[in-house]
Amino acid sequence: MPELPEVEVTRQSFAARIQTARIQALHMGKPLRWPLGLAPQSLEGRQVVGVRRRGKYLLLDLDEGLLLLHLGMSGSLNFAPVQPEAGPHDHMDLITDRGVLRLHDPRRFGAVVWAPSEGSSQAQKLLGHLGVEPLDGGFDLGDFAQALKKRRSAIKQVLLAGNIVVGVGNIYASEALFMAGIRPTTSAARLSKSRVARLHAAIVQVLTRAVEQGGSTLKDFVSAEGRTGYFQLEAAVYGRAGEPCRACATPIRSLLQGQRTTFYCPTCQKP
Ligand SMILES: [Zn+2]
Repeated sequence: MPELPEVEVTRQSFAARIQTARIQALHMGKPLRWPLGLAPQSLEGRQVVGVRRRGKYLLLDLDEGLLLLHLGMSGSLNFAPVQPEAGPHDHMDLITDRGVLRLHDPRRFGAVVWAPSEGSSQAQKLLGHLGVEPLDGGFDLGDFAQALKKRRSAIKQVLLAGNIVVGVGNIYASEALFMAGIRPTTSAARLSKSRVARLHAAIVQVLTRAVEQGGSTLKDFVSAEGRTGYFQLEAAVYGRAGEPCRACATPIRSLLQGQRTTFYCPTCQKP
């Protein structure tokens, strides 16, 4: 599943090239997670002002309104001067005078939604509940600590919910908690100040590294076939159940938390 770093790298892969492009047509394929919200023809002639990211949404700002794009479970975006004929899993072609932005999404959990503005109900329905961005100045340690104090659930669940800080998905939550030495089942409210500080730093570090790694493998990530090769993060715990911890050699354990598998080292990560 594309996580925040993949979405950010996707943004970087085409944001500069699509800027100022004029929309000539929008072709939608099979239904995606949500309807577009307006007739595709009404976007003809609109100009792309820029591409921003909020959580795992890409915001394609137009000179009037914006498009919110989400990659869902299996989506990828590719912007190229010319695209091959659309295949059965290509569900959006945004045709501009600078190239075609194509959404390839075999499982169709992705979305392309039009909104008149970021503050509109159409946009806020998708963005309104999102927590702060972990990779800009808004991710404040004091606010983070205060928000965690109010949550009695397991810290891993609190991170995955995304309403305190966005973008800490299953892989990155497992890795950040390992880096911070915190057992994923520990109640968020019970974390000491110093442990919260370590977790805050670990989240920033894990996500920053993933964006950097993704940037260096950009060509593989958004390949010509539109296939996604999600980042091969040098995982410390994720996906390593039974293998020795890289720090202490204790076998890594896994457990189910809210339908998602969590990986942790029982020695390095204290409750
Ligand atoms: Zn260990």
